[in-house]
Amino acid sequence: MRITVSVIKADVGGIGGHTLPSDGLLNAIRKTVKDAGDLLIDHYIGYCGDDSHIVMTHTKGIDNKEIHQLAWNAFMAGTKVAKEEGLYGAGQDLLKDSFSGNIKGMGPGVAEMEFDERPNEVFTVFAADKTEPGAFNYPIYKLFVDALSNTGLIVNKSLAKGVNINIMDVEEGKIANLSLWEDKPIIEAALMYPGRYVVDSVYSKDGEPILDASTDRLHNIAGMYVGKDDPICIIRTQKNFPATEEAGSVFNNPHYVAGNTRGSHNMPLMPVKINSAATINFCIPIVEALVFSMHNGKLTGPFDGFSTPDWDYIREIATKKALAMRSQGFIHPATLVPSELEYAEGYKAIMDVLHSKMKPVQAQPQNDQRKESYEDPD
Ligand SMILES: [Mg+2]
Repeated sequence: MRITVSVIKADVGGIGGHTLPSDGLLNAIRKTVKDAGDLLIDHYIGYCGDDSHIVMTHTKGIDNKEIHQLAWNAFMAGTKVAKEEGLYGAGQDLLKDSFSGNIKGMGPGVAEMEFDERPNEVFTVFAADKTEPGAFNYPIYKLFVDALSNTGLIVNKSLAKGVNINIMDVEEGKIANLSLWEDKPIIEAALMYPGRYVVDSVYSKDGEPILDASTDRLHNIAGMYVGKDDPICIIRTQKNFPATEEAGSVFNNPHYVAGNTRGSHNMPLMPVKINSAATINFCIPIVEALVFSMHNGKLTGPFDGFSTPDWDYIREIATKKALAMRSQGFIHPATLVPSELEYAEGYKAIMDVLHSKMKPVQAQPQNDQRKESYEDPD
């Protein structure tokens, strides 16, 4: 059976700041999706920090107008409640006034893939908050390129052949189709800078979709920075694809990502349980794992991938790394480079004052004398 899985997410409001959506907001989304009748086979609604996500299964294919319209309407309904409740950032990810056919480019993040469902179809949705799409560069690299992290790259025939990785330049809005293993150093060079180059999708060598990630970058969409574009991705697992526990384990070394309070710091990506609020301890970047089984488009799950006791230890590591980085305050690399700052306008304003006080450096007489003595040694 040919099934499409569409995951669409947006931040349309948080309680008391950028924490989590309210019950009223989520219920408005749920009601809209439920009222869609038989458009969907199944769905699941949850949140990661202040981002609400809708996981939908259907037979309409990707980029389908009805599916995208449904998600848009749901987030509009959530926004209406968010405004009534005075939630912070109400409707902040909805950048247009009306729907125009495809939700991509309108603010919400979209990850979706169409495939022939396997008898035991399994996939995991990784949802992150307080960070950016490039936050997935490191775990995706470990999963598909680094055999030290994933033995499946050696012993699984399909993975050992390598995969095709589509990498997007988010500044230019272009995509490169790269192939393992011949393009390995090119892929590595791109993934080196997650602020610009991000993984868009991954396919097996025989064209099966394995991974699809949201790659929209809000400040490019809106022509100005309007918020960190928290990413979401779908990864199919088992059989010819990475094992579910290989996909999960690549998040067990909380690596530094851009994001955090005011979207202006490098902080570790902390794996958390599903439907977690963003912490008010600087709002450490977070990622959730929603592990699903699917048959004829019907979902079972999600199992909460980062809920087992071992992940408490990983969370402790992430917290220690977060406190260590924040202990050096605003000094780079705790803070991002100017072009990546969410508060770039505020930074520019104060730097303009600094530049107005700058005067040319005067020539130093002592240096001139020293220069002459070198030129005339006797
Ligand atoms: Mg968010």
